[in-house]
Amino acid sequence: MTPALFSTLPIAPTQLEALAGLGYSAMTPVQAQSLPAILQRKDVIIQAKTGSGKTAAFGIGLLHHLNPRFFGVQALVMCPTRELAEQVGEAIRQLASRMRNIKVVMLCGGKPFGPQRDSLEHGAHIVVGTPGRIQDHLQRQTLDLTSVATFVLDEADRMLDMGFAEVMATITAALPKKRQTLLLSATFPDDIKKMSRAIQRQPIEVKVDTVLTHDETVVEQLFFEIQKHERNT
Ligand code: ADP
Ligand code: MG
Repeated sequence: MTPALFSTLPIAPTQLEALAGLGYSAMTPVQAQSLPAILQRKDVIIQAKTGSGKTAAFGIGLLHHLNPRFFGVQALVMCPTRELAEQVGEAIRQLASRMRNIKVVMLCGGKPFGPQRDSLEHGAHIVVGTPGRIQDHLQRQTLDLTSVATFVLDEADRMLDMGFAEVMATITAALPKKRQTLLLSATFPDDIKKMSRAIQRQPIEVKVDTVLTHDETVVEQLFFEIQKHERNT
C-alpha cells in the first residue's frame, strides 16, 4: 500500500511547507488514521507505541484550528515530564515555523516562575507543560484557560502512573466544556479508558501497532557461517 501524503489533507500551504522542511512527505500510520478526525475537531484517543509519530498528529491538528490574530491560549498540551514537554514544544515550533507570530509558552516545573508569568502576560497561543506547574499558574491566576479549543494529554498513561490524576482533573475543570480533547497513550489500561470517558466526547479510537522506521529502505543483512574449505576464494 502506498502511504498517504500530507498533501492529501485539507491543511494550509504554510503547514505543508513546514512539513516538507522537516523532510516529512508521507504520513505515518498513526497520522493517516487520526488526522482526518483531528482536523474535523473530533475527540480522538490514540494508542500507539513510542516513535509512531503522535506529536505531529496532534501538532498539525492544533495549529490547523489556531487563530493567530487572537493572543489567547487556544491549545494546551500536557506531558508527564519537562524533557518530554520540551521535545513537544520544539516539535510544535518547527511545525509552526512557516506561520507568523505563533507563540508557544513552556510551563514546566524546575524553572523560575516569573519569566513564565511574564511570557503568559505578553500573550500566548499555545501552552505546553507539565501538570504540576500548569496547576500552579491556574491557582495563582496567571494562566487563563477559558479560550482553549484543543486540549492534548500526551503520554497520558505515564501521567497517571506518576500520580497526576487529581491534578489533571483540576486542570480539565478549568477548560471550556466545548473543546477538542486528544488523548495519547502507549498503553490502554482501564484507568485510561475511565479518564477518556470523563473528559472526552464520543472519541474516535485509533490503535496502531507498527513503529515508524526512520529508513524505509532497510537493508537486510544476512550472515552465513561457513567453513574455510567452503569458500570460493
Ligand atoms: P511518538 O510521540 O509517537 O513517540 P514522535 O512524534 O516523537 O513519536 O515521532 C517519532 C519520530 O518520527 C520523530 O523523530 C519525528 O520527527 C519522526 N516523524 C514523525 N512523523 C513523521 C513523518 N510523517 N515522516 C517522517 N518522520 C516522521
Ligand atoms: Mg510522544
